[in-house]
Amino acid sequence: MIENTYKAQPAATTTPRVKHTITAIPGDGIGPEITSATQKIIQAAGLEIEWETVEAGKKVFEAGLASGVSKECLQSIRKNKVALKGPLETPIGYGGKSANVTLRKMFETFGNIRPVREIPGIHTPFSGRGIDLVVVRENVEDLYAGIEHMQTPDVAQCLKLISTKGCYKISELAFEIASAEKRSSVHVATKANIMKKTEGMMKQTFETVSKSYPKIQAKHLLIDNCAHQLVINPEQFEVIMTTNMNGDIISDLTSGLVGGLGIAPSANIGHEYAIFEAVHGSAPDIAGKDIANPTAMIQSAVMMLRHLGEFQVATQIEQALFVTLQSGQGYPVDIAAGRPVVGTRQFTDMVVANLGTQSALSKPRTYDKVKVPQRESVTVINKPKTRKVVGTDIFIEFDGTPEVLGDLIEDAAEGTDFKLKMISNRGTMVYPANGVDTDCVDHWRCRMTLNPELTGKDIDDNSLWQLLNRISQNGLCWMHIEKLNQFDGENAYTKAQGEA
Ligand code: NAP
Repeated sequence: MIENTYKAQPAATTTPRVKHTITAIPGDGIGPEITSATQKIIQAAGLEIEWETVEAGKKVFEAGLASGVSKECLQSIRKNKVALKGPLETPIGYGGKSANVTLRKMFETFGNIRPVREIPGIHTPFSGRGIDLVVVRENVEDLYAGIEHMQTPDVAQCLKLISTKGCYKISELAFEIASAEKRSSVHVATKANIMKKTEGMMKQTFETVSKSYPKIQAKHLLIDNCAHQLVINPEQFEVIMTTNMNGDIISDLTSGLVGGLGIAPSANIGHEYAIFEAVHGSAPDIAGKDIANPTAMIQSAVMMLRHLGEFQVATQIEQALFVTLQSGQGYPVDIAAGRPVVGTRQFTDMVVANLGTQSALSKPRTYDKVKVPQRESVTVINKPKTRKVVGTDIFIEFDGTPEVLGDLIEDAAEGTDFKLKMISNRGTMVYPANGVDTDCVDHWRCRMTLNPELTGKDIDDNSLWQLLNRISQNGLCWMHIEKLNQFDGENAYTKAQGEA
């Protein structure tokens, strides 16, 4: 057994003494226990840190602040630029949006970094395979923009917004992390085959950015295949970059490969601010029982120390943690797997006692400071030479058949600049009829294009208003429209399933 034969070796390095002021958010549930454990270890490692402790999460929600983030918390992060954050509960049934997501967005921490490394001593079905990868997740865009509307009483919509700027920044960050960690490849995982505009933008931007990093192999794979490959052959990956929602799911999967939520760290990185936190939540069921595993939080603090340039202390703490996990002396209950169990406080004391020792099984990686892409002041990256509106999609709430709706829309379009091209329901063309057996709901997309008799005419907003008025006059309820644009002659929209 690894853990019984291993003998810790004394460390050769000394600890620098630099003072930092860092915002500490103990958070909810097990947060205070794992935060104080981590602070104790950093202090014992000899690094002088002034912690500014502030509140966010449950108590702040309960005090009536819908953001769940106190004013003091915002001020402190703004001043210190770096925060170590415990998990924050998102109340169900009251309070506003997730305080975690609010913090990520308010400080534009656009990159979520989740390293995933096998730690000898933590037994998993993947033990011995040497998994050592980093998931780089875009952190502020995508479905997480949280822009949702009920389109009809029965149909909900969440906007998936992806920007070229956001794709550039996260792609550059992924390659910079690969460079800083001396990695040889970066994969981008997307669903560009289905979402050609949004996920496709991430793929294209990644490929453009990759040209500036010729020494690093750049590869694309589909996110579903990525999930499959991560289980079949996880060793092939070094850095996986992906969009927000994909990254949320895939990074929990990767945490599972090396031992689960109790050990998975993360960093939220922005141009100016960085917030470090365990991947897991507040685990209220085990809070206050001295059984929470502080490993994820300790590893998050190690990432924080590297971000601060404290490479030596970071490695010292990481090594002490690895030695403890390989010693066989005792484990937090979630990773004990039949071995001796110790509580949060005792485990912390064991890590402290092992400071200054080095693991023979987990060699330190070489890290350079990561160059975070700078904030671009421009709001527009791509400026097409030509742009043209070639039609409009009008979304209509309607309780009836495609044929009846088709007649009503064709009638409404009479005398306007438009002609009905097709109607789709739940993404599939249902009018003109094409034999498809779609189970329709009351949310219809009517695609209107320029009447062929008016070829060459420009579609302007007045012609759109005229059409919308006619549709309303025909007793139909429209809930939103989309202009169909062409940028530099290319369609800036996709076709419905079945549309010619
Ligand atoms: P969770 O808090 O991560 O807990 C799920 C389970 O994982 C726990 O019940 C516990 O399992 C185990 N676990 C997690 N961390 C552990 C640790 N350090 N040591 C030992 N076991 C650990 O997920 P959840 O129950 O879905 O969410 C609870 C709350 O946390 C929610 O309000 C959620 O919104 C919030 N949350 C916050 C964050 C964040 O702050 N970034 C992230 C995720 C969730 P056992 O029951 O088997 O002991």
